[in-house]
Amino acid sequence: MIDRGRLATLMAREREIYRGRNPRSLAAYQAATSLFGRVPMTWMNKSAGGFPLFLSKASGAHVEDLDGHDLIDLCLGDTGAMAGHSPAATVEAVQRRFAELGGATAMMPSVDAQWVGAELARRFGLPYWSFALTATDANRWAIRLARAVTGRPKILFNNYCYHGSVDESLIVIGPDGEGISRPGNVGAPSDVTLTSRVAEYNDLEGLERQLARSDVAAVLMEPALTNIGIVLPEDGYLSGVRELTRKYGTLLINDETHTFSAGPGGCTKAWGLAPDMLTIGKAIAGGIPAGAYGMSEELAQKITGRSDLDLIDVGGVGGTLAGNALSMAATRATLEHVLTDAAFEAMAELSEQFAGSVRRIIERHEVPWSISRLGARSEYRFISPPPSNGGRSNAAADAELEDFIHVYLANRGVLLTPFHNMALMCPATTQADVDHHHEAFDSCLNELLSLPR
Ligand code: PMP
Repeated sequence: MIDRGRLATLMAREREIYRGRNPRSLAAYQAATSLFGRVPMTWMNKSAGGFPLFLSKASGAHVEDLDGHDLIDLCLGDTGAMAGHSPAATVEAVQRRFAELGGATAMMPSVDAQWVGAELARRFGLPYWSFALTATDANRWAIRLARAVTGRPKILFNNYCYHGSVDESLIVIGPDGEGISRPGNVGAPSDVTLTSRVAEYNDLEGLERQLARSDVAAVLMEPALTNIGIVLPEDGYLSGVRELTRKYGTLLINDETHTFSAGPGGCTKAWGLAPDMLTIGKAIAGGIPAGAYGMSEELAQKITGRSDLDLIDVGGVGGTLAGNALSMAATRATLEHVLTDAAFEAMAELSEQFAGSVRRIIERHEVPWSISRLGARSEYRFISPPPSNGGRSNAAADAELEDFIHVYLANRGVLLTPFHNMALMCPATTQADVDHHHEAFDSCLNELLSLPR
């Protein structure tokens, strides 16, 4: 469908425009000689324009870069800013905790934590909660507890999943159907099949084959995949996962860090799921670092009954800054006043409209693409129908095309997540923001497809 020569010509033009439009960001990038790769985190170099835009200001659904451009932020910190940038209630709570009351971190509990625990229990249906600072840490600690109580060594992941910097998750399905190290793996220097197993999403037979080996402590999964494009569950898949995990004595951990977009209680609440543990991070504290993991009554009792486990010293569950008073104040304010049940309803409605309009644009241009949606989050794909598992989704990626769309949109004031074509709605996103995206997306497709192919 796509004329690659034309795509390359347009990409060169757009990169030129990007460079010309962003001299201050370029200068800041060139001056960042003390940073490894000139960026605070290496992934920030994943910028389709050749260098990243530097942040100057942000408010609600908009960011302003160093060159003074106002950008509609559909990336929203890859979900970290799903509450919108600096929502007033969170800002007020953070100022009060840090400046007025004082004390960000004191090795003492604050009463906000119980409020947050009760609210997470209401939303996700699990009665007990502990805190981390990132979703990665929530996952690591959940994994340690799962191994400790089951006495089993392995964690099962879906093919092409992402759960943060969790070494065990760096496993994909190899040519013979069994797990192999994910290409480029820089995790622990040990055979990943000693710690992990892997199955395709939406494949209950494959999952059962792995679980039947009786060495899997937990399945750690996103209820819908989001990190290899959105992949939604087929009918009966998630109930099948629950049945199989119970049958083989394996715990089920839902990672709702991104799928929180499905509603106030993520997919777990929206689809009536019953995991043994649930992990979350990113958005819950409105941009301040916070993560959390919840567990069932039965699991909590099992853990408490194990006096041999070192859970309060150097045994490996917890961090000094986890659950600190500032994170807890920010999480409470965000859940109480910003990412409310009503806010999720409005975000999902706008996202539905977004997806509908993108679908119409795709149809008008007669490209075999599709768009998938999970509550407030949608994502366009260069394949139709959308892939049903991680392996197929990975195979359908088109980095060249994706980069072109990203830089084209950035040049017209719209930011997408650098890693995929995801558009997320926050409570402050407006119809006008969404319309602006559609105009730019439509003109992008016009330019890409209008000449003879
Ligand atoms: N879980 C999921 C599902 C994620 O998408 C991510 C990050 N993209 C993480 C965990 C890790 O989050 P963090 O990098 O904030 O630790």
